[in-house]
Amino acid sequence: MPLREGAYRAPPEGRLRLGSVRPVSDARQRIRGGLCMEIRLTVNGKATVRRAGKAPGFAASYDVVVAGLGTAGAEALMHCIARKLKTFGIERQNGMGGLSTIGGICFGGGLNRRLRDCEQAASAADVAYGTVIAGVWTEGRRIVGVRTLANGIVRDVAAAVVIDATGNATVARMCGCGLRKGRAFDGVMAPCARAEVWLDDGKQTPRPIYRNFPDDLSRSAEDYSATATKLARSRHGFWLSQKAQGRMLRPSAVIGAREEVRVETEEIASMADAIAGKVFPNPLFFACEPEDLPVYYEDHVFESKEIRNWKVHCGLPMFYYPSSVPYGTIVAKGMENLLVPSKHFGVAHDLGGSLRMQPEMRKTGVAAALAAFLMLRLKCAAKDVPYAELKPLLEETGCLKPARDTRVNTIHGKKFGPLTDEEVVAALRTDVTRTAEWWQGPRGEATGSAAERAAYALWTAWERGVRGPEASKTALAEKLFAALGKTPRHDGNFALALALMDDARAVPVLRDLVAHPGGPADPVVAGAFPNRIKAIDMLGRFADVESVPVLVEIVADGARTFTAGLADAGSFGGGDTMCRFQALAYALTALQAIWAKHPDRQTALRTSRLQAKLPPFKSHLDGYDLGERLRRVGLVPRKGRK
Ligand SMILES: Cc1cc2nc3c(=O)[nH]c(=O)nc-3n(C[C@H](O)[C@H](O)[C@H](O)COP(=O)(O)OP(=O)(O)OC[C@H]3O[C@@H](n4cnc5c(N)ncnc54)[C@H](O)[C@@H]3O)c2cc1C
Repeated sequence: MPLREGAYRAPPEGRLRLGSVRPVSDARQRIRGGLCMEIRLTVNGKATVRRAGKAPGFAASYDVVVAGLGTAGAEALMHCIARKLKTFGIERQNGMGGLSTIGGICFGGGLNRRLRDCEQAASAADVAYGTVIAGVWTEGRRIVGVRTLANGIVRDVAAAVVIDATGNATVARMCGCGLRKGRAFDGVMAPCARAEVWLDDGKQTPRPIYRNFPDDLSRSAEDYSATATKLARSRHGFWLSQKAQGRMLRPSAVIGAREEVRVETEEIASMADAIAGKVFPNPLFFACEPEDLPVYYEDHVFESKEIRNWKVHCGLPMFYYPSSVPYGTIVAKGMENLLVPSKHFGVAHDLGGSLRMQPEMRKTGVAAALAAFLMLRLKCAAKDVPYAELKPLLEETGCLKPARDTRVNTIHGKKFGPLTDEEVVAALRTDVTRTAEWWQGPRGEATGSAAERAAYALWTAWERGVRGPEASKTALAEKLFAALGKTPRHDGNFALALALMDDARAVPVLRDLVAHPGGPADPVVAGAFPNRIKAIDMLGRFADVESVPVLVEIVADGARTFTAGLADAGSFGGGDTMCRFQALAYALTALQAIWAKHPDRQTALRTSRLQAKLPPFKSHLDGYDLGERLRRVGLVPRKGRK
C-alpha cells in the first residue's frame, strides 16, 4: 500500500538527538500551570525524556525570534529590523546566508549580493551565531519562548512571534506540528545534491554537476567539502570571474539539501493548482522556476499525475510554469504565532522542485517578517492576519511582482500560437520526442520543430481538459476523436491527447497499444517515452479492468517481450534494464490503481507481485536501486517473503 499522503517517518537516530519536544496539546503530557517543555534526548540510541514544568526565568524578551538566518531567515531578520521590531536571530553556522553561500549556487537573483547589507542591518539586532534552538516553551497553541544552546550554555528567551526559517522544520517539529515528507506515493525525497566541479587543470571549462543522493546525506556533505576545497584552490578564470561578480562570495561546506521535511501549513500550493491556473485570493508572491527534481530521478512512475503528464506524456522535460503562492503556506497549522518561511513551507512535493530557488525563498522570508509585524500591531494570530493589510506591504517590498518568466506562455504567444484545434490535430500527426528543452525556450534553435510542436499539442489538450471552458474542451475532444483511424501511426498520439483530457473514448486504442506493442500506433522513436508505456499509465487511471490479463502477463514475463526493441531505439536512455524497469513499474502501479477501484481484482495484483521477475535495477545515480523502490512500496515482495 502506498503511504498515506504526507506520512512522515522519523529520521534515523543519531548518537545524540536534541530537542524533540512532544506536542503539548496532548493533555496527558501537560504539566500543571499550562506552560511546559518536554525535551526528548536520544543518547547512543537510548531515549530519555526530560520535563520542565516551571516557567523559566527568561533572560530577555523579543518581539520576534528568527530561527535560522539562511536565505529566507536573513531576509526575515532584515525586514523585522526595518519595521523596528525587537528581533533576535539565531544561526547554527558562523555567518548568515545558509545555502545561498554554497559555491556553485549563483543563478537566479540570489541573496549573496545582499549579504553585506544583511550583516550591517543585523548589527541593530541581537544575533547569535554558532547557536542552535534546543527547545521551545509553549502555552497551549502559543510559543512563549525558545531555548538556545551555544558552547554548552543554555539560554531561555521570551518571544511574541517565532519565525522558523531553518528549512528543516526545527521549531515546528519541536512544537509537535504535522510534517510532510517527500512524494505522496512512497515518501521519497530529493534531499541532497552535490556540486562537483570538473576543473581538469583548467583545460576544460568547469561545470558544476548536481546529483541527488536520496539515501545518503553524509556523502552529500563530503561532496560539498570537496567542492569548497577545489573552489578555494582554483585559479581558473571562470571561477575568478564568478567571484569578481559576487557570485561565489563564500564557498562553504554547508550540507545542501534541496528537499527535506515540510511543515503542515494552513494552505498548500501544488502543481495541480498551477496547471489549473489557480490564482489564490491571498498571494504572497508569484513564481516561475524550472522544476528539476524528476529530471534526476528515473522512477517518475511514483511521482504525481501532473509530473508524469508533463514529463512522460507530453515529453516536456522541465516544469517551467507560473504559479501563485498563498499566504497560508507560511502559517504553521495548529500554532498561533509560528511562521514557517524557507524551503519547508507549504508546497507539495511536485511543485517544491520549482518553488525552492533563492528568489522565492527570500520572498517567503520577507512575507514572514511583514506578517509578524501585523500580528504584533493587530494583536492577532498568524492565520488571522487580514490579507487586505498585508497586501500593500507585500507590494511595497516587491513580493507581488509578476513571475520573472512565463516561458510556456511566451511560447504560446510567439512561436506556437496559441494552437487552434486544427493545429493541435495537425501537430499530432508527428512523432512526439523528448527534444523540447526548457533552456531553449522561445530563443532556442529547436523551438518550433515539428516534434516540439507535437509535444506542445499534447500539453494544449491536457491544459484545455483541466481549464476548459467546457464548450472548447468538447470541441477539441471531438476533433481528436474524429482523427482516430485516419493515420494509424498517429492514433497513439490522438488517444493519449484524449486520455489527457480524461476522455474514456481513448481506452480501446490504449488497450490495443498495450496488447500489441510495436504495432502501427506505437512507433519507436529515439529518446522518447514510448506510447505503449504511456498507455499502461493511462489504463491505470481509467481503472480499466479489461486490461488486467495483459498487464499480469507483462509482469509475469519480466516485461521482456513487451519491451523488445525499445532499448535499441534509445528509449529511456538506459538500455534494456531501464526499459524493463519502466514497463514493470508502470504495469504494477496500473494494476494497483485498478485494484483500488475494483477490489475483486486483488488476486491478479497479488499474483503479479509474486511472479514479478526483477533484474537488479541500478540507476545512473550511484546507490539508488530502483528495484528496491518497488520492494519498499510493496509492489514486489522482499526476497524470501511470499
Ligand atoms: C546544490 C544546490 C544548488 C542550488 N542552486 C541554486 C541556484 O543556482 N540558484 C538558486 O536560486 N537557488 C539554488 N538552490 C536553491 C536555494 O539555494 C535554496 O533552496 C535556498 O537557498 C534555501 O533557502 P532556505 O532559507 O530555505 O534555507 P537555507 O538557506 O539553508 O537556510 C536555513 C538556515 O537555517 C540554519 N539552521 C538550520 N537548523 C538550525 C538550527 N537548529 N538552529 C539554528 N540554525 C539552523 C542553517 O544553518 C541555515 O543557515 C540550490 C540548492 C542546492 C542544494
